[in-house]
Amino acid sequence: MDFVIVQPRQASLKVKGTSSSFPVHRIYCVGRNYAAHAIEMGHDPNREAPFFFQKNPDNLVEDGRFPYPPASNDVHHEIELIVALKDGGKDIPLGQALDRVYGYGVGLDMTRRDLQGKAKDAGRPWEIGKAFESSAPASALVPADEIGHPAQGAIWLDVNGERKQTGDLNQMIWKVPEMISYLSGLFVLQPGDLIFSGTPSGVGPVKRGDRLLGHIDGIGDLEVLVV
Ligand code: MN
Repeated sequence: MDFVIVQPRQASLKVKGTSSSFPVHRIYCVGRNYAAHAIEMGHDPNREAPFFFQKNPDNLVEDGRFPYPPASNDVHHEIELIVALKDGGKDIPLGQALDRVYGYGVGLDMTRRDLQGKAKDAGRPWEIGKAFESSAPASALVPADEIGHPAQGAIWLDVNGERKQTGDLNQMIWKVPEMISYLSGLFVLQPGDLIFSGTPSGVGPVKRGDRLLGHIDGIGDLEVLVV
């Protein structure tokens, strides 16, 4: 292809234990998917329809360094399970949703909470709070062929060695197959799509120099330094 400018790089995530990479198409993120986090953000945890926002594929960070972003004094950590799709489609039946999953990873949905709050108050989109540079640190992916489809297991985040967020994958209000099936009714899902599946309670601010250590049982760790 004869492009008229330099071709943008393909966003990707490494696959654990290999020299191969998973090419990333879109990043969908679900909001308020753990009841305790919905409550801490001042919302009713009852099961309402899931809602989604997006980050940009090139917001992914693989080198373990999160540059503190401009225009905010209140940047929060949100530890999340990443679901990586190898196949897409629309109107995917619930019973076929997991067949679309390539694998899983550990991610951080870094959030400019002050800007997100202003956007919420004004009824405006969330991009300035959610989809900024380096806002999606992520681990290498682990193929479902190796670990299956984890529906339970601890998910936690330490900041400077102190436990801040804790939960269990079994506390997700919308389970992985439900998220895939629901999303596929709104968008045509594609190979390479990622889903950040929501965060347990305990979100809070970070500052330069903080060391974040996220973990999900059966998937692995994610270490990030705020710089
Ligand atoms: Mn989130």
